[in-house]
Amino acid sequence: MPNCPYCGAAVEQQPGEVVLTCPYCGTAFAVGGGEVGRHLMGRVNFTIQQVLEAFKSWALRMPETPNDFLGAAHLRDYQLVFYPFWIYEVVGRVRAGGGVMEEAVEVSLPAHRSMTGTPLENLLMSPVGKVYYSHRHVVETGGRLLNPDVGPEEADRLALSLGRKAVMDSLRRRLGSRPRVESLDLRIASRALVHAPVYVCTYSYRDRSYRFMADASDSSVLYAEVPIELRFRAVTLAAGSLSLLAALATLAAVDRAPAFSLVSATGFLIVGLIAVYKGLRLRVTVRRYPAGW
Ligand SMILES: [Zn+2]
Repeated sequence: MPNCPYCGAAVEQQPGEVVLTCPYCGTAFAVGGGEVGRHLMGRVNFTIQQVLEAFKSWALRMPETPNDFLGAAHLRDYQLVFYPFWIYEVVGRVRAGGGVMEEAVEVSLPAHRSMTGTPLENLLMSPVGKVYYSHRHVVETGGRLLNPDVGPEEADRLALSLGRKAVMDSLRRRLGSRPRVESLDLRIASRALVHAPVYVCTYSYRDRSYRFMADASDSSVLYAEVPIELRFRAVTLAAGSLSLLAALATLAAVDRAPAFSLVSATGFLIVGLIAVYKGLRLRVTVRRYPAGW
């Protein structure tokens, strides 16, 4: 077992983990050596009950959500997970149009491969509102800590390529669509590891299971599956079928007015297919819902 470089305690290591957090003093350290940088965290500001209530009233704003959702949706199971992210300040020194300027950007990336392909992958993390890591807070809130399997060196490489893209985007906004960049040198100004608390929840509605994820710091919904009211589906299906019938009817007039007939038939067909698709769905899925709704 590796030892904590700060207090010397032996720290348990799971397969794949390359950065560990000492459960005694909270120090984060890279097993292979090297600096981690600041270790920050998001505080848990909302209980699971508060997050559940916030999620339900958020879901009710969608027209598809059943009217009895508030009373009939029940929490089945949940986990509070502190997910790891690397966050960076990258500075680009840009030589363009005879002048030199510095452009600072913030980039973040998931620090565990299991987050790839999930709603957490493209979540933009910022050090704003984060506090210094406290292991006691994780224990007191009953959270599970996920340790990075993406080490600092690998994260640096990813951050530099994300940083290059972000610097170029920012230059385009400032100097027009095709800035003439003669040279661009990038350096990492700061690196931090952030553990962000997320409620990963399963709930039931009329014997079916659905999932949602919410940020435990600000209660914003990160991912949600919401059932669709039967009446909404019936109405949408009926409208879709009418549209498809209209498409057939206009096609029947193709001999008399070919252009008109084809154009309107295509229109009816598209509208009809979208409605039928919507009517056949059992649930709505919402990804990466912005904070502060
Ligand atoms: Zn320690």
